[in-house]
Amino acid sequence: MLASHKDMHHVVILGSGCAGHTAAIYSSRANLQPLVISGHEPGGQLSLTTEVENFPGFVEGIMGPELVENMRKQAERFGATYRSGTVTEADLSQRPFRLNVDGEWIETQSLIVATGASARWLDLPEEKKLIGHGLSSCATCDGFFYRDKEIMVIGGGDSAMEEANFLTKFGRRVRLVHRREEFRASKIMLQRVMDNPKIEIITNHVVATVHDVEKGHVTGVTLRNVVTGETTDSEVDGLFVAIGHIPNTKVFNGQLELDNDGYIVSHGGARTSIDGVFHAGDVQDKIYRQAITAAGAGCMAAIEAERWLGAHGIH
Ligand code: NAP
Repeated sequence: MLASHKDMHHVVILGSGCAGHTAAIYSSRANLQPLVISGHEPGGQLSLTTEVENFPGFVEGIMGPELVENMRKQAERFGATYRSGTVTEADLSQRPFRLNVDGEWIETQSLIVATGASARWLDLPEEKKLIGHGLSSCATCDGFFYRDKEIMVIGGGDSAMEEANFLTKFGRRVRLVHRREEFRASKIMLQRVMDNPKIEIITNHVVATVHDVEKGHVTGVTLRNVVTGETTDSEVDGLFVAIGHIPNTKVFNGQLELDNDGYIVSHGGARTSIDGVFHAGDVQDKIYRQAITAAGAGCMAAIEAERWLGAHGIH
């Protein structure tokens, strides 16, 4: 049953990473007064990074949290409203769409889903303190900081293979650590890793501890052999966790078309399987996962939402 609803909106944007903020900038400049629901990780994945050197326009780079905060201010300047909270329930079966934001129902004519994908981490207690300080989930973003350094990549899927290969451009050595003997990665990606003389593969090992929280950055890891239980310490400067991402689509399960991994299936441009619902950013993209591609996708979604509203006579 629906509780009382408070607001009706033209556009609601879910998520406040690069995609959500950019959608907010474009839709606010189209005078649609979007409401952005910030989500459980305001600022998205950029809020977890330190320096961003590949976002065009920042010659000297910019800190990730500052970049997303600037985007938010830019959107607010044009009339976007932000509300903290998460959507716990959604009813997309009819329009207006209904969203339960932490217990309160709101309604919207169109919806932009920019809820992103969260990197999967190892769930070690020290991990959170070291993210952005030698611990990363994105080689494209952070590899450059590890020129001639000791790099370790964790994972056995295509992402881990891709990251390990990419990181050999920088590190003096890349060690790839996987918890099993068999790899989930495609044969060709695994072969590329095996053929790369700068990569050393370590199977049947997991990370038991990441050092050194006291020093405030990664200095090494303790690995545990899952077969023998034996532990070994290794020096590491850059630890890249590439054990998958989890798209934040749980609330849309059974409503929006999702692929086997839970990502939104695109129906062309920014369209989803439901008319009036658009996707933006990592919630649909498991290939590029970059701030700039997410921002571009946010722009596309806002333009499509605006045109869709216009075509339906909703002003
Ligand atoms: P994935 O295929 O789900 O692989 C995740 C890997 O991390 C697995 O090897 C898994 O080990 C390991 N893992 C999971 N949890 C772990 C933990 N707690 N500790 C240690 N290891 C853990 O994820 P992905 O590599 O990100 O790929 C996701 C999708 O994107 C796939 O469909 C992939 O093909 C695609 N992709 C394609 C490309 C490309 O074609 N260029 C590049 C990247 C990704 P187990 O095997 O033991 O479960």
